[in-house]
Amino acid sequence: MCCKPNYQRVGLLERYKEFLPITDKTPALSLMEGSTPLIPLTKISAKISPNITLYAKFEGMNPTGSFKDRGMVMAIANAVEIGSKAVICASTGNTAASAAAYSARAGLTCGVILPAGEVALGKVSQSMMHGAKVIAIDGNFDDALTIVKEITQKYPITMVNSLNPYRIEGQKTGAFEICDTLGEAPTYHAIPVGNAGNITAYWKGYKEYFEKGIIDRLPKMIGFQAAGSAPIVEGHPILEPNTIATAIRIGNPASWKKAEAARDESMGLIEKVTDEEITEAQKLLASTEGVFCEPASAASVAGVIKKAKEGFFKEKCSIVCILTGHGLKDPQRAMAICDPFINAKNDLDEVAKILNLK
Ligand SMILES: *Cc1c(COP(=O)(O)O)cnc(C)c1O
Repeated sequence: MCCKPNYQRVGLLERYKEFLPITDKTPALSLMEGSTPLIPLTKISAKISPNITLYAKFEGMNPTGSFKDRGMVMAIANAVEIGSKAVICASTGNTAASAAAYSARAGLTCGVILPAGEVALGKVSQSMMHGAKVIAIDGNFDDALTIVKEITQKYPITMVNSLNPYRIEGQKTGAFEICDTLGEAPTYHAIPVGNAGNITAYWKGYKEYFEKGIIDRLPKMIGFQAAGSAPIVEGHPILEPNTIATAIRIGNPASWKKAEAARDESMGLIEKVTDEEITEAQKLLASTEGVFCEPASAASVAGVIKKAKEGFFKEKCSIVCILTGHGLKDPQRAMAICDPFINAKNDLDEVAKILNLK
């Protein structure tokens, strides 16, 4: 008997090189990001509508546990290519974790600016382990981004927030993967919206596949913000954004106009979901589908459930929800929303009783 075929996957810069800004001088940087699973959500779709075939693109399966790796591998490779020695980002946590990991691998110095007290534990620990210089400011994400924008104009340090176009280029590969897996674009693409780089990137990716004739229709982009942090929905910046979904706690998105363009060109929508709806969706995903995502990610599924209840999906359709990050990023939040575990004596009878076996 021979061994099984080797399913070693390749990283994104290799897999989609003809669609990416890669030159002879771009380093072959990779942590084997991308190629994330597209998981059918049969329980949830059965519950909400017979019309819907629902999938989750589980971006929590990327090397640092969020979709940020798609853009970061491209942005860090480019930083190396242009001779940069140091990078910096403002972050609600996942951009920082990803920047720190890819900087470590590429040998760059990495600075991350976080809003103090607003970043989930798992994410901070990643940045620290990967050796980034972690700075927590007494301000929110929008303040952190302002500092980063100004510092990169004054000093020789490269910004790796999604204002860096290489981030968007890398992130658009998520759309390619969905189409490559389904053989077409889904009818709807549901996605959480924070700084709005991801909805921008996915829309760019779908359009590129469409223009090349690889797919023959485009999806409708349906984006969801958290109710306490929904500047695009409200039509003005939110000075003190608030939501338990810390990854989308952003009051003045950098790619605001591009997100609106994605919405309008695709004839989609951007709406809001409450923290309760987000929490309910997060628990439903974990307890009925076996998929543990972080709160911000669940906004996509919460939005689809809400729209299904309103009767929005009238015809047979497919929907892909982007689950942007892994649930283990924010274990404190998970513990807080579940029933407490049971403490028991070291005793078989007592344990059997608690399990209703006796
Ligand atoms: C960054 C992030 C978002 C928001 O993405 P944007 O591109 O800022 O809109 C959503 N969920 C998670 C888990 C994230 O890390």
